Amino acid sequence: MPILTNKSIVITGAAGGIGAAIATALAADGAHITVADLSQAAADKVAGEIAKAGGKAVAVAVDVRERAQVRAMIDRAVEAFGRLDVIFNNAGVAQTRPFLDITEEDWRFITDVNALGVLIGMQEAVKTFKQQGGGGKIVNTASIAGKQGYEPLAHYCASKFAVVAMTQAVARAFGKDGITANCFCPGVVATPMWDTIDKGFRDSGLTHKVNEAFDSFAAGAVLGRPSRADDLVGVARYLASSDSDFMTGQSLLVDGGMVFI
Ligand code: NAD
Repeated sequence: MPILTNKSIVITGAAGGIGAAIATALAADGAHITVADLSQAAADKVAGEIAKAGGKAVAVAVDVRERAQVRAMIDRAVEAFGRLDVIFNNAGVAQTRPFLDITEEDWRFITDVNALGVLIGMQEAVKTFKQQGGGGKIVNTASIAGKQGYEPLAHYCASKFAVVAMTQAVARAFGKDGITANCFCPGVVATPMWDTIDKGFRDSGLTHKVNEAFDSFAAGAVLGRPSRADDLVGVARYLASSDSDFMTGQSLLVDGGMVFI
C-alpha cells in the first residue's frame, strides 16, 4: 500500500515550484491533497494534474496572511477528506535588497508572508488537530537562509530563522498532544522564485547577468549542482509519513551540501 494512503495533506504555495512537486508526488503516494495558493486558477491547474494522474485533490485560493482564509482552507480539507493529517506551510516570497535599502514596507511584505503566514497556518492546524483528538504533523519550508544570514536577503533570512524558531516552539508546546512540527531547509532550487531574486540583483545594480545570483549561490553546493524541486520530495514524504513519528522540532538541511552545522 502506498506510504501516505488516505492521509489528508494541505500544502500552501502548492502551485509554485517546490509546492507543486511535493503535492504531485505525495498524491502519487496515496495522499489526498488540498492544493492551496494565492490564485484559484493556479491551484486548479495543479489539482487537475493530480486528478488526471489518478490522485485526489481539491484546490483552494488562500492568502496565508489572512487568518479567515487559512481557517477556510483547513475547513475545506476536512470537508473534502474527513480530517487533517498534515499541513505543509510552504508558501513564501523572496526579495533582493542591499542591506541599507531594506525598507519597513519590504520587511513587512517578506515577514508577513514567510513568518506570520506560517504562524497562522500552524495555529489553525493545531486547533484542528486538537479537535480531532490529537496527533497531526506540521511541516514548514524554511531555507538555508534560516541557518545563515546572506546579504542582500537579510529580511528574507530573518523570516526563515523565524520559521525555524517557531517550529521548535510549537514542537515543545504540543508534543504532549502527539503533534509534531519539523521543517526542511532547501538550498538553491530552480523555481520561479529565483526570477524574482535575480531580477532584484539586477535592479539593485548588484549583478547584471541573468542567473548570475542563482549560479553563484548554487556553486556553493558540494554536490556540484543546484537543486531541482524534485530533490525535496524525499524529505517531504519522510516528514509527512509515520516514518518521522518520533522526530519533532527539527530543521533538516536538504541543500546539496551548502551549509554544514
Ligand atoms: P515559488 O515562487 O515557485 O512558489 C511560491 C508559491 O507561494 C507561489 O505559488 C506563490 O503564489 C505562493 N505564495 C506567495 N505568497 C503567498 C501568499 N501570501 N499566500 C499564499 N500563497 C502565496 O517558490 P518556491 O521556490 O517553490 O518556494 C517555496 C518555498 O520554498 C518558499 O517558502 C521559499 O521561501 C522556500 N525556499 C525556496 C528556495 C529556492 O531556492 N527556490 C530555497 C529555500 C527555500
